[in-house]
Amino acid sequence: MAKKLNFYDYSLPKLQTFLVEQGFKKYSATQMFEWVYLKDELDFQNMTNLALLTRDYMIANFTFELPTVSEIQESKDGTVKFLLKLGDNSLIETVLMRYRYGNVVCVTTQVGCNMGCRFCASGLLKKKRDLTPGEMLGQVLIVNNYLKERAEPRHTTHAVLMGIGEPFDNFTNIIDFIDLLNNPKSLAIGARHITVSTCGIVPKIKEFADLKLQVKLAISLHAAIDEKRNKIMPINKAYPLKEVISAVKYYESKTNKRVTYEYIMLDDFNDSLEDAQALVRLIKGTNGFVNLIAYNPIAEFDYKPAVRDHVYVFANALKKMGVQTTIRKDFGNDIDAACGQLRAKMEKKNGHDR
Ligand code: SF4
Repeated sequence: MAKKLNFYDYSLPKLQTFLVEQGFKKYSATQMFEWVYLKDELDFQNMTNLALLTRDYMIANFTFELPTVSEIQESKDGTVKFLLKLGDNSLIETVLMRYRYGNVVCVTTQVGCNMGCRFCASGLLKKKRDLTPGEMLGQVLIVNNYLKERAEPRHTTHAVLMGIGEPFDNFTNIIDFIDLLNNPKSLAIGARHITVSTCGIVPKIKEFADLKLQVKLAISLHAAIDEKRNKIMPINKAYPLKEVISAVKYYESKTNKRVTYEYIMLDDFNDSLEDAQALVRLIKGTNGFVNLIAYNPIAEFDYKPAVRDHVYVFANALKKMGVQTTIRKDFGNDIDAACGQLRAKMEKKNGHDR
């Protein structure tokens, strides 16, 4: 018997198209979405406003498949890290961060990552495969179940595609996933509460711009000088900084939205005043703002976090030169906080190859 399809893989437009192709009514998709996402009803038999034939077809061909929880690490600051197992036994990570303004879920988009950034635990394990839209949605649903079980008043209010993987290397699936997050008939998370982060795949930044979605875009910059960025981000050899910034300008012109430049502060590497000046020169003429991030050291790499004073001097220099700058709050320092760290540790323990 053929494997059943996962209902969670289907955005509303995708399910509508699918049903019409199978000879069913387009509006049945909306009815099903209301049952599943608004009423928590996962038994097609109980979806009483659906035609009997449609119900029978859905029962025979669809299932609701979520990842299973392998491990949960809870930090004193409220951050929760989930190690999840997918249907093929692949391990991924999802993180819940609690801010005053809401619950943010950091979503993994691929099993492993091929971008090989030299400061990132996720890049230690090469990409095995892309995640489906349902596997990404499943991460948010699992976090929502966790919050519900603890009778917390709020579900997930924000999602950031910043976990393991490069979202733009899994473009079609993340676009469907964003629809599942944002659509009022599914999770109804506001577009402005969804952020996609890329290491700088230039053609995809432009393709994303052309979609004119209202979601936010973050660029993982981490160095403002090509020679330095080449050392820590191999993608820079394919798409150097000038091309990335030109794609950002294209994005801004198409969407009227500002990007965030993510910048991990590495001790004695990218944290000097010269680096700050180079950064200002680079992003001049764009509307973006800078988010400085503390580095969580990883045993496999030599980089160390910049000392706190340097971070403040760097931030003040940017501000004086007219660049809006924030310093990201540290989360989960008492657990395997760095992206991909928990998964890499478990894979190592299980004896899997890098
Ligand atoms: S920083 Fe992002 S793009 Fe780079 S290796 Fe890690 S997960 Fe991949």
